[in-house]
Amino acid sequence: MAEKETEETNESKGLNFVEQLVFDDLQAGKNGGRLNTRFPPEPNGYLHIGHAKAICMDFGIAEKFGGTCNLRFDDTNPVKEDVEYVDSIREDIHWLGFDWGDREYYASDYFPQLFDLAVRMIREGKAYVDDQTSEQIAAQKGTPTEPGQESPYRNRSVEENLDLFERMNKGEFEEGARVLRAKIDMASDNMHFRDPIMYRIIKHPHHRTGTKWNVYPMYDFAHGQSDYFEGVTHSICTLEFVPHRPLYEYFVKELADESYCPRQIEFNRLNLTYTVMSKRKLLQLVKEGLVDGWDDPRMPTISGMRRRGYTPKSIRNFMDRIGYTKYEALNSMSLLEHAVREDLNAVSTRVMAVMNPVKVVITNYPEDMVETVSMENNPEDSTAGSHEMPFSREIYIERDDFMENPPKKFFRLAPDKEVRLKGAYIIKCTGVKKDADGNVEEIYCTYDPDTRSGLPGSMRKVKGTLHWVSARHAVDATARLYDRLFEVENPAAETDRDFREMLNPDSLKIQEGIKLEPYIAQHAVPGTHFQFQRIGYFTPDKSSASDALVFNRTIALKDSWEKEKNK
Ligand code: ATP
Ligand code: MG
Repeated sequence: MAEKETEETNESKGLNFVEQLVFDDLQAGKNGGRLNTRFPPEPNGYLHIGHAKAICMDFGIAEKFGGTCNLRFDDTNPVKEDVEYVDSIREDIHWLGFDWGDREYYASDYFPQLFDLAVRMIREGKAYVDDQTSEQIAAQKGTPTEPGQESPYRNRSVEENLDLFERMNKGEFEEGARVLRAKIDMASDNMHFRDPIMYRIIKHPHHRTGTKWNVYPMYDFAHGQSDYFEGVTHSICTLEFVPHRPLYEYFVKELADESYCPRQIEFNRLNLTYTVMSKRKLLQLVKEGLVDGWDDPRMPTISGMRRRGYTPKSIRNFMDRIGYTKYEALNSMSLLEHAVREDLNAVSTRVMAVMNPVKVVITNYPEDMVETVSMENNPEDSTAGSHEMPFSREIYIERDDFMENPPKKFFRLAPDKEVRLKGAYIIKCTGVKKDADGNVEEIYCTYDPDTRSGLPGSMRKVKGTLHWVSARHAVDATARLYDRLFEVENPAAETDRDFREMLNPDSLKIQEGIKLEPYIAQHAVPGTHFQFQRIGYFTPDKSSASDALVFNRTIALKDSWEKEKNK
């Protein structure tokens, strides 16, 4: 009965299945009641939104149950790794709102212990040096239904194995000449048990250990033991590691005992529509200049999303919403964008910017007069206050907001029609000036002084309300309008096509000469979120060498894209 009650309490707390397993271990007093997770990125690229899902789990669960989470760089392959990546990974985790305190570790810190363990296993007849090539070893692996073949080097003497392994590490042999393998079972049902490789020769300097080592441990030989050395209790990873789990346990058993033993738990990885999540492919996009670096706002990287104007909270909310399960799925980018809009709606400052300007001259407004009108910063946030915006005789409105021969339901500006200028006056169109090709160059209007915002006359009903910017005070800027990076929903599934062919050619549109109200320019610091009213959410791009103001469109106000797709 008591047990049933706990179950119900947990369910009402809404624990996901990983949290439930951790909760049960803590209740059972495993590992002395400790909870210690780790996030183990390989510093071979920038973190992406998939990693964010793992980060939210690893750090989030530690927070939830009063445990700790280590940051461990899984730096076992010096060929692909770099300190640039280490730095970016630290920055991205902090930006998401998590902290590892002084628990920053490196798998390379454990190279001595791992080497000692390998030597011990050789002594105990559990490991051997194989002189075959990787192709030969692969050819002997067998299939899931057929057993593999034993290597001709499998039964070497302990002495010979010890000698060869030491010499491998001294650099006496070339890369690929020999490997150290665990002697387990070439007929095992689990392919990972068919004498897996523990160590390989790599003669490339390591970003932390330099040229000290010539042999490097494989993931399977490094990960569980690193968890053990660090005191990790729950090693949470993605589903592709399920078949590796028995091997994880096999190696960890060489070290662990009843009082403390780390445990691997797997959840479904994040896959998102219209993008790719493979670090190899993302690196290729960067290297080939197909995007503007790892932090290109179209990239699914955390740094790209930050530069694009996504907020940490929106990413965390998205992860909460999609949840953690044991089934692979493809999540919709629209769901992430929904979370982004939701948070930006709550936090961004409302301002006016005209994207495609046309000038309006208010002919009955005094030429040198300037008034300031007050604009609410955020109707969603009563503490956000307001700011002032200048109004004068000449203003800009969107070209689209005027039509010379409008259809019936057009409630914006047209000859003899009235509209309200948001926060200012009602104006009426009296005429237009056109260029030789018939394009509207200027629109002429009169204003009604009694309709200023706040005066009784402003209550008068007109159907359209437009955003505008005072021409004299406007600041020019450039907007970068981003769309999906790929044209197809699931590029990774189209295995017969080069993923680069599926890039969306219209993923970036650059719009010069947009007109901003001065307040925006004065507050254009990266990390600020603006809602350009009636247009979308924008954020200043990271500062560049030139003084030009550049804004990244985080996202349009509405999900026009989904609608288009459903047409
Ligand atoms: P690779 O190992 O191919 O370089 P990776 O994406 O696995 O790429 P890691 O740096 O090893 O990169 O990943 C660190 C952690 O992030 C791992 O625990 C991994 O399971 C997790 N992770 C990676 N991609 C995703 C994803 N798409 N969804 C959820 N978690 C992920
Ligand atoms: Mg990995």
